[in-house]
Amino acid sequence: MKAAVMHGARDIRTETVPDPVLEPHGVIIKVKVCGICGSDLHVYKQDGQEGTIFGHEFSGDVIAVGSQVTGILPGMRVTAVGFKPCGTCFWCRQGKGHRCSAMAILGYQFPGAMAEYVHIPFAVLGRTVFPLPEALTYEDAASVEPLSISYFSVNRAQPREEESVGVIGLGVIGLYAVQVLKARGVSQIVASGRRPSRLEAAGTCGADIIVDAAKDDAVRAAMEATANMGVNTVMECAGNQTTFDQSIAMARGGGKIMLVGVYEQDLRWNPQGVIAKNLTLIGCLGGNFPASIELLKTGNVQAKPLISHFFSLDEAAEAFETQLVHPDAIKVMIKP
Ligand SMILES: [Zn+2]
Ligand SMILES: [Zn+2]
Repeated sequence: MKAAVMHGARDIRTETVPDPVLEPHGVIIKVKVCGICGSDLHVYKQDGQEGTIFGHEFSGDVIAVGSQVTGILPGMRVTAVGFKPCGTCFWCRQGKGHRCSAMAILGYQFPGAMAEYVHIPFAVLGRTVFPLPEALTYEDAASVEPLSISYFSVNRAQPREEESVGVIGLGVIGLYAVQVLKARGVSQIVASGRRPSRLEAAGTCGADIIVDAAKDDAVRAAMEATANMGVNTVMECAGNQTTFDQSIAMARGGGKIMLVGVYEQDLRWNPQGVIAKNLTLIGCLGGNFPASIELLKTGNVQAKPLISHFFSLDEAAEAFETQLVHPDAIKVMIKP
């Protein structure tokens, strides 16, 4: 089959690789759509990951089902999550592979969905493999994974309707966070980002106040919007020193900071700002596929405004460069 294979930093080539082999607990999916994730880009920029086939945000049709799998049938339209427990850690030895502390992840430690076919190990209906309601397109379904991260993070914050929430960083995760906050009825959303296309998308997603961080100060905007109180919760979806500092500065006393963005570099910080304001810093890493499928099905969240580009599998190299540098890129997707 054809797949997009990493050969070095910013070097992806579409080439022929062996077809996936069906395992007794696995399924093989013919990939229809696969998105490029911000996490993929962190790896894509570096050497040392030769041979990686990315792709964990995808949808497709089941074409082969392992002998030990129940309830999943060939022809089903699905999205899925892929991981392989290590088999040897404390949890794996107790038979609790889902808690494995050294999980291998689809699209990083074993081949992902930027290929014609993908193998999902441990295919369990409703836990790792999710059938698509008719209302969801393949593009919607390939958006479930990033949306699930935003949903998980917002849900962890438990914002109330009367509260103000700041969203810093308007990549796909931040933009979905805006939509999920809106769907929950949060009354005031202050969104801060940089690329013009993403600022515009933040408006479509329901942000009440949009800050162009290239020109304006996000902290000042948040303070002005809240009569100098600061926001109740900050969704920190950018992951750098500036945005981390802004999060602490714009949170009101007793507020929460949800750390969602991936930090490529260490931080320098003085915890005094957190102590003095009684802030709570919360790490977020998790997803919720069923809740995300439901949000897309009801139309409370929409994927389409965030999908900016499509490429074929043969154009995978261009697709990655577009996602990394194109000013209008929000979510770039590949259609094998
Ligand atoms: Zn992702
Ligand atoms: Zn393990």
